Amino acid sequence: MMMGMNLNNIEFCDFKVDENLSSYTSFQIGGKCPVVIFPKSAEGVQSALQFATENNLNRLIIGNGTNILFPDKSPYSLVIRICSPSLDEIRETTEPYTFHIQAGVLISTFLEFVTKNSLTGAEFLSGIPGTIGGAIFMNAGAQGKYISEIVKKVEVMDKNYKTYWLDKSESSFEYRNSRFKTSGEIILGAKIELTHGNKEKISTEIKELLNYRNNRLPLDLPSAGCIFKNPKNGPAAYFIELAECKGLQIGGALVSPKHANFILNTGNASYKDVKSLILEVKKRVYDKLNISLETEIIIL
Ligand SMILES: Cc1cc2nc3c(=O)[nH]c(=O)nc-3n(C[C@H](O)[C@H](O)[C@H](O)COP(=O)(O)OP(=O)(O)OC[C@H]3O[C@@H](n4cnc5c(N)ncnc54)[C@H](O)[C@@H]3O)c2cc1C
Repeated sequence: MMMGMNLNNIEFCDFKVDENLSSYTSFQIGGKCPVVIFPKSAEGVQSALQFATENNLNRLIIGNGTNILFPDKSPYSLVIRICSPSLDEIRETTEPYTFHIQAGVLISTFLEFVTKNSLTGAEFLSGIPGTIGGAIFMNAGAQGKYISEIVKKVEVMDKNYKTYWLDKSESSFEYRNSRFKTSGEIILGAKIELTHGNKEKISTEIKELLNYRNNRLPLDLPSAGCIFKNPKNGPAAYFIELAECKGLQIGGALVSPKHANFILNTGNASYKDVKSLILEVKKRVYDKLNISLETEIIIL
């Protein structure tokens, strides 16, 4: 498929060929992709996009792959991975307590930075395994809070390789939703505003949240976090449990007996196993409770 194309023309990037996408997702599911590109800078992102367009290649942007279900055969010829060490700088700005965080920065690294610098306001993100870019795309959150609450501006690149800043008010943030799900813009970074806090308190809260999640969530097997969005009338996990889906298994995919909104890859789950299990859970919840669950994860 990539015959006749010179990958060395892609500037400011590293790349790997014939990669298993399972290596790039927390679900550990996904078939071979002809090329995975790791941009070193915004110029690298542009160069990778140009290469895809010039060669008419179907391409996808990913972060840390913690909210994605990939097919066993990749529908993409080219995957651009914006995840540390790609685009992973944190810079000060001239605005007080406001930082320019590049999209590839892992949330865990960001939380180390905020603790070190006694900055409060981001503790609730503790334990979310994605990147800043992925979190903004998904409007990720926990503890009733969303990343959009601390985002001031988002830096993007559009399909014509133009880069610009969008105000939070232009980003259409909603529960697990943002303009980026439909705009096609690539998130390069964000300005995040925090306040000064007590280092000890910040560190304790982050650790306590991590402990709480370690006890409550099934983190011993691969997953993509919560599969379904919470409907308006309560947590999806509660309804899935009421519909007696806990422990339900199709092939290698299992509804976690610990947290019903997690589907686990018990070792050899395929895309089809997970998709069939999602459909079965949806059906049972609908038949029993008349509730239509909507998936939160990105199913490709
Ligand atoms: C164990 C576990 C626990 C989790 N807990 C939570 C939780 O508490 N709260 C929560 O909200 N989520 C949770 N998640 C889900 C996930 O971690 C978040 O949604 C996270 O923000 C996804 O970031 P990512 O970098 O992994 O994105 P990916 O999974 O790589 O991508 C997600 C989507 O964003 C797009 N995308 C990624 N980066 C960019 C970019 N730079 N520009 C444009 N598009 C981009 C991708 O195309 C894809 O459509 C959990 C996941 C796991 C595995």
